[in-house]
Amino acid sequence: MGGSTVCPKKTLNVSTLSDFVKFSRFPNLWLIGKKIYCLPFTVTVETKIREFQYKILNDIVYTNDKLFRFKIIESPLCTFCQKEDESLEHLLFHCTITKNFWLAFSTWISKQNISIETLTLINILFGVFNDNEDFAILNHLILIAKYFIYKCKLNKIKPTLRVFFEKIKLVCHIERKIAKRNDRLHKHYEKWGKILPLL
Ligand SMILES: [Zn+2]
Repeated sequence: MGGSTVCPKKTLNVSTLSDFVKFSRFPNLWLIGKKIYCLPFTVTVETKIREFQYKILNDIVYTNDKLFRFKIIESPLCTFCQKEDESLEHLLFHCTITKNFWLAFSTWISKQNISIETLTLINILFGVFNDNEDFAILNHLILIAKYFIYKCKLNKIKPTLRVFFEKIKLVCHIERKIAKRNDRLHKHYEKWGKILPLL
């Protein structure tokens, strides 16, 4: 938690992202590259979440396919389903276990009156870019959820909405403390308002 709220685009090596986006399977993202890079700095003050998103953007999340290639583990199979190779895309999107989590996540989000369309692989990896009022909370929740899925993989447990709620509560609580200290409580309530009654 804590840290700068300023997007580091001038200090970080943006060309790394450029290369990733350019050579990845998502060349159309090239245009919003900087927005993608700044997103975690716009919607959260949580350092770990920002770092994890940085790893996603630079393709340095150590999923089983990579660990297998480096001869660190004996199988590239997915920790959750044990059926397909665990690439980043598989872990965070294609895996049936993960898909079930995202389905529960999306159903819960829409029940809270937060506008959400069907989450695509691109939304999950890079963010949802639109002008609606829920931009900050929706993207923050997606960032928390991705890191949560990754932590579940590390702990070899399946991601559930129930445990995810506990994580959200904690994040909200810590953000409220920071907001209070910085005299920005109004901003905090503006962002978390729709789900605060549940937390
Ligand atoms: Zn899987």
